[in-house]
Amino acid sequence: MRETKSTCPYCGVGCGVVIEHDGAQITGVRGDPDHPANFGRLCTKGTNLHLTATPVVLQHQRLREPQKREARGMTPSALTWDEANREIADKLLAIRAAHGPDAIGIYISGQLLTEDYHAFNKLARAVIGTPHIDSNSRLCMSSAVVGYKQALGADAPPCSYEDIEAADCVLVSGANPAWAHPILFRRLEAARAAKPGHKLIVIDPRRTETAELADLHLQIRPGTDVALCHGLLHAIIWQGWTNDAFIARSTDGFAALKVLVRDWTPARAAEVCGVKEADLWLAAEWFATSPASLSLYCQGLNQSSSGTAKNTALINLHLATGQIGRAGAAPFSLTGQPNAMGGRESGGMATLLPGHRDPGDAQDWAEMAALWGVSDLPNRRGHTAVEMFEAAARGEIKALWIACTNPAQSMPDQATVRAALERCELVILQEAFAHTATARYADYLLPAATWGEKDGTVTNSERRISRVRAAIPPTGEARADWRIVRDIAALIDAGLSRAPRLAADSAEALWLEHREATRGRDLDITGLSWITLDTEGPQQWPYVAGPTARLYTDGRFATADGRARFITRPFQPTAEATSPELPFALTTGRLRDQWHGMSRSGSVPRLFAHEGRPVVRLHPDDATHLHLADGQLVRVRSRRGDVVLPLKLDGNVAPTGADIAMHWGDEFIGAQLGINAVTQGAFCADSKQPELKFSAVAIEPV
Ligand code: SF4
Repeated sequence: MRETKSTCPYCGVGCGVVIEHDGAQITGVRGDPDHPANFGRLCTKGTNLHLTATPVVLQHQRLREPQKREARGMTPSALTWDEANREIADKLLAIRAAHGPDAIGIYISGQLLTEDYHAFNKLARAVIGTPHIDSNSRLCMSSAVVGYKQALGADAPPCSYEDIEAADCVLVSGANPAWAHPILFRRLEAARAAKPGHKLIVIDPRRTETAELADLHLQIRPGTDVALCHGLLHAIIWQGWTNDAFIARSTDGFAALKVLVRDWTPARAAEVCGVKEADLWLAAEWFATSPASLSLYCQGLNQSSSGTAKNTALINLHLATGQIGRAGAAPFSLTGQPNAMGGRESGGMATLLPGHRDPGDAQDWAEMAALWGVSDLPNRRGHTAVEMFEAAARGEIKALWIACTNPAQSMPDQATVRAALERCELVILQEAFAHTATARYADYLLPAATWGEKDGTVTNSERRISRVRAAIPPTGEARADWRIVRDIAALIDAGLSRAPRLAADSAEALWLEHREATRGRDLDITGLSWITLDTEGPQQWPYVAGPTARLYTDGRFATADGRARFITRPFQPTAEATSPELPFALTTGRLRDQWHGMSRSGSVPRLFAHEGRPVVRLHPDDATHLHLADGQLVRVRSRRGDVVLPLKLDGNVAPTGADIAMHWGDEFIGAQLGINAVTQGAFCADSKQPELKFSAVAIEPV
């Protein structure tokens, strides 16, 4: 029996795992007691990771060899790697010659490793020459990225998990860590038990398991977070709880924000948000007057057409009260995916460049051109996720290369996404699992190595870089994602009669290129090496002379003048409103034991014990009003489509709300499209993150 230390491939907590194996087969997994994210603990998903690599799963659920579909709708047949690489490179070159590099889009994943991200970024921008590379992280945290940059000057969560223990007041907004970040929730429970007088405030339209633990649950109407924050700030100013010395020394823009929130009296905010005014005053007091207040937030703020405004409205509270830059005091964005942070760092997105550079900045482009040794980078922002599939649906993007994600299930407004996939001349899917919805649309299927089979690094929510290590060889003919990219990139470069621009021969070599792109930046890791990660364990960036647990401790921020910015943004209603025709506000969320589109977690039967089938949850009073009974099949209908699901009566859902877990694809629902048939592609103007947390729907008997 052998053991290999690695990292859990599910959520952004980034727990360390010890893989037990015999060199050919993974036999068990346990928490790594030395990893500072989890100290040996694992949640249900992590505990059962080895069951995603049983011989049955490897044989029947993994994609094991390159495959090609002669025509859409046909069963794909196997071909060799050489044949697949040659044909794909030739087809991409032909599309590039006929329509230009902008006709090619690349859609990747926050579950790829940083080295894979780096390879794809170079493939898109330096080899193909397209700006259109984006990630499913767009659906996850892009509002947090822009919120941090606008307010604090850099995309950097300023704190660490240890601040959960250091905080006296924790405000959880639009997040359910009890299910989505379980190991952090355990830390929060333990911190509350150890600290008498600890305060927990939860802001969520649903009464979640996290809300059950709270001292105060503000069950707001979906989409009203900005109004709530403005009301909280009004109360803080009225009571004189602002930290005027901090505001004067370290911030700009407070006067304009004061004018905006003057009209947001707690009474008005409470009415708009559907909460008690007294609760709003109490939340303001606890947050502002506790010695250290930490906020934890996630998709409830991010997946919104005003996602950036929601993020900055919350950060405003921290700046106004000086609840930042100290132990236990910070706005802490929790990332959903295991390496959403690594994707941000390596700039594998349409609105980012490597090293937290900006596609809108000429100096940043010049630096990347010098680092990569190329002069013909496409120096503009590309299509973000929703935009990319809309461009493909219009016929502007002719080829899509998709890796480690399942947009035919996970993207909103599925009818448009699937029309885009059907219209593309070429769909390449690079994937570990064989039976995803997107696989049905692929002309080429390239088998990718996955957890337990590949080497590299990931960064978790607290800026901590951990090693991912291979315990066993890749399944069948699967290869590491970066290697697949490199080999096809070399053929494209040869077709363009130039030397290879992506020539790295190992994951570590790619990481070293990535590391160099961080030199002198806010996330500088030039003092870090894989030897350090191997000998001293996971480390937090920036890392020049050593790791950094907490940012902005000197009251200076990452803006050019060192001062944070209050962002003055008015409350905007959701992109679509409920109406007599569509009277329910549908939110989508996560189950405790499933992950995203279930391509990995769905291979473990015991993970269905917690919740075994898709349902739509509705408040019992609404069901009574509609003469609907628990268990009855109902149609959930929006402006875009509908799904038929069993009804589950649930008093934890607010009246006029409805809730469906995000994970269920068409095969579970038994319909042409999954639950994203009803969700919408409207997105935040700043972050381009779609509003998956709000769709106006009708609930009707079938
Ligand atoms: Fe994996 Fe997240 Fe669970 Fe940790 S909390 S074991 S990272 S799914």
